[in-house]
Amino acid sequence: MNISPNFKDFYKYMVPIYSPQNKIPVKGYGSKIWVQDGRDYIDFAGGIAVNALGHCNPALITALKEQAEKIWHLSNLYTNEPALCLAKKLVKTTFAEKVFFCSSGAEANEAALKLARRYAYKFFGSQKNIIISFKKSFHGRTFFTVNVGGKNKYSKGFGPSPIGIIHAEFNNINSVRQLINNYTCAVIIEPIQGEGGINVAKHSFLENLCYLCKKYNALLIFDEVQCGMGRIGKLFSYMHYNIKPDIVTLAKSIGCGFPLAAMLTTNKIGKVFSLGVHGSTYGGNPLACAVGNIAFDVISNKEVLNGVKTKHDLFKNHIKRINLEFDIFQEIRGIGLLLGIKLNKNYINRGRDILKLAFENGLMLLNAGNNVLRLAPSLIISNEDIEEGMKRFYKTIKVLKKKN
Ligand SMILES: *Cc1c(COP(=O)(O)O)cnc(C)c1O
Repeated sequence: MNISPNFKDFYKYMVPIYSPQNKIPVKGYGSKIWVQDGRDYIDFAGGIAVNALGHCNPALITALKEQAEKIWHLSNLYTNEPALCLAKKLVKTTFAEKVFFCSSGAEANEAALKLARRYAYKFFGSQKNIIISFKKSFHGRTFFTVNVGGKNKYSKGFGPSPIGIIHAEFNNINSVRQLINNYTCAVIIEPIQGEGGINVAKHSFLENLCYLCKKYNALLIFDEVQCGMGRIGKLFSYMHYNIKPDIVTLAKSIGCGFPLAAMLTTNKIGKVFSLGVHGSTYGGNPLACAVGNIAFDVISNKEVLNGVKTKHDLFKNHIKRINLEFDIFQEIRGIGLLLGIKLNKNYINRGRDILKLAFENGLMLLNAGNNVLRLAPSLIISNEDIEEGMKRFYKTIKVLKKKN
């Protein structure tokens, strides 16, 4: 069959859960993308915090090609070299002693939550099963993780929900105190809420949260799917806060665009995932882990991590300068290259419109909720691409201001 794909095919052949921009990207390099008609775009979205080393990174291409000529898939009846290397690197550089690989953020969180339930079940009994999560949080779209997430819009309308999940207020330790007790088996939190609007957890809040978890023997799960892997200028967010969680979940940037995810934990907790208790067909896939190994080596490089901090300042200065002229942003928040720009009151619910307008002006942006713009570019985006992208951002805001 000879098929020439065309944008209209999207609405004709795909289930309508997405509404993508109206041009089809066909090629990418670094932080630039080209669409079918050849026009270029600057990418400040990074595939939603996934393309941490840009598009078509030569080192990643080599890793993928070399592995593609060795072995693709084995199943978990066998182990493989790339998975063992990556697991060893993750253990050597973090609090973790054990690793579970899978292919998506939701799957990593699903594993973490099942592990926490299992751990409580084994050591404390079946009555200890309550999971505390936070309002506005996002943990994925599987049936369990979407209910753990703090957005009703995503979880309601699918019949009966799984029980044993309650939600506290982010950055409000009293709201946790009111809910936590000996029946709590785990608390799951994004140290920086991504989808919820780039909300940064306060140091004191996470410290108190950690204390409460210890007091009630509840496991502390950090969902670092979006804010981990160098995104905030440290290899992992828990290092920025200097807090030791019991479980960390990773996805997005860990594979830099190749589907890969991981759950990290300690020996003591990991042990309850004994033979046959959990699994995943693609978990630890050699192709994914081969890419993950090189991604890890590059991202954990000090120069790359320090670069994230410098680029943060560069982005922030540009945004501030644009705001001096147009006065449409209320707040710039976030750490490293996970940035949120809160729009002021006159622009509430315009998030999606602005993404469209930016795209028309040659720029890929993200939103997080409807009044926060989000930037999650490549960690190694060049200064020239930042400059060019900011010119296009300036144009976008100028047009927006005229229209309003
Ligand atoms: C994206 C995201 C997920 C879900 O990851 P998928 O790979 O889409 O399943 C979970 N948690 C956080 C914090 C995320 O940003």
